[in-house]
Amino acid sequence: MILFKTINELKKYITAKRLSGISVGFVPTMGALHSGHLSLLRASKTTTELTICSIFVNPAQFNDPSDYQQYPVTIEQDIRLLESENCDVLFLPSVPEIYPADFQKKQYKLGALETSLEGEFRPGHFQGVCQVVDRLLSIVEPDWLFLGRKDYQQCMVITELIRQTGIHTRLQIVPTMREASGLAMSSRNLRLTAQDREKATAIYRSLQWIKTTIRPGTTLALSEAAEKILLEAGFDKVDYISIADAQSLEPIENWDGQLPIVALAAGFLSGVRLIDNISLTGE
Ligand code: AMP
Repeated sequence: MILFKTINELKKYITAKRLSGISVGFVPTMGALHSGHLSLLRASKTTTELTICSIFVNPAQFNDPSDYQQYPVTIEQDIRLLESENCDVLFLPSVPEIYPADFQKKQYKLGALETSLEGEFRPGHFQGVCQVVDRLLSIVEPDWLFLGRKDYQQCMVITELIRQTGIHTRLQIVPTMREASGLAMSSRNLRLTAQDREKATAIYRSLQWIKTTIRPGTTLALSEAAEKILLEAGFDKVDYISIADAQSLEPIENWDGQLPIVALAAGFLSGVRLIDNISLTGE
């Protein structure tokens, strides 16, 4: 694996590689890598001929400064994991490399995707996500971008970003990797005690409960009951449990039994914010 810290060197390398006509896959991450991240890498390795992973904890997407400060950093272990997966390139830029003094912040038009769910509870988050993904895509210009379904709303936002920028990158959404307990793997799980990890399984359980219980008609009582499951399991606070249109993420209060829908949840356990989602109409 080759490690680049500067945009110039990375671009020079990609340009030279592209001369032989190879396809490029890109896996952006914030590090503290786990098996979920590695499943994206594997998807890239099977789909493309050159896999580039980036590790960059993007300050622009943290609305809470203490969340940014506490974000886990495990770079040496990350490098070992990437090497064991035969990742070809690691891009590890500094903050000034990505956001130089003359960086021009753009404003992205994301409509309701930006203000609902995560957007409501983390104002500015998706502008920050678009900022960094737009920047990284313009540097790497990958044929394929790999994102995890775990961050479902992010996948919808980036689909919209790709459409708006017109960049020739295709998006592959990779299924959520879970612990045997059902808990979605997340870098933030590192901040949970073993006991909290047990309690955290309630988030997946509540979503599964919605999936097995939902019928055409009103959905409001389901979200409320699922929220109760989380609070009874020991969650301190539930930001939302929403049953929503799988594309626009608009809340569905009366389901016709046909429309593709997802259930999404976010809540705090011992001060750690966890999110998860499942499809209610697909696998
Ligand atoms: P992060 O480092 O949290 O920014 O995540 C980097 C990428 O890994 C994003 O596309 C995430 O959606 C994806 N990811 C994180 N956790 C998982 C998981 N448990 N399963 C699949 N993909 C994941």
